[in-house]
Amino acid sequence: MNIILLGPPGAGKGTQARFLEEKYGMLQLATGDMLRAAIRRAEPIGVEAKKIMDQGKLVPDQLMIKMIEVSIEHPACTRGFILDGFPRTVPQAEALDVMLASRHKKLDAVIELSVDEATLIERISGRFICAKCGAGYHDKFMPTKVPGVCDECGNKEFIRRPDDNAEVLKTRLKAFNEQTAPILPYYKGKNLLHIVDGMASMKEVQEKIESILEMAKKS
Ligand SMILES: [Zn+2]
Repeated sequence: MNIILLGPPGAGKGTQARFLEEKYGMLQLATGDMLRAAIRRAEPIGVEAKKIMDQGKLVPDQLMIKMIEVSIEHPACTRGFILDGFPRTVPQAEALDVMLASRHKKLDAVIELSVDEATLIERISGRFICAKCGAGYHDKFMPTKVPGVCDECGNKEFIRRPDDNAEVLKTRLKAFNEQTAPILPYYKGKNLLHIVDGMASMKEVQEKIESILEMAKKS
């Protein structure tokens, strides 16, 4: 099974990708991470990409496609891949289809984990951890038993991740929606698009994704 997994930060995309890797033996291809790794290891694609990026230009679609092409031919992708971070535009989506067809492969599903902004903000912005032992808490969902005192170690200092605040989250969600919006109609037109409520429980989301893959397998 070959899928694209879409979802803003906080939608649980990483968790679901790991689940799919374990259950179906698929491999997650996070293109941003792959590109950074290729540059770090000075692989031919990385060297070429760095040269272009150093000129202040965007990495061309064909280079990204090439990188994905090399990856999907790897034995670890025999049972399928989970593409994450690419495509972002219709031309990229079209180029991806052309490349996959040339390899006698195709996409089986495009799954978007949708989120409700208000719920996501409440979920993420209330998080804090103990500065000493790292125990995790949440203002609303998991407060300390005694206010201001860590349940685990009795410490009274806590850390909040600076980017856990609502404004940063809103900006990230907006960026995600703008980046993803163009390709949704493209995949909808191909009957590949499935929207799953990312705010449901982890188990419910898993079950929904499994049923989508089972359906796709039959068609
Ligand atoms: Zn503690």
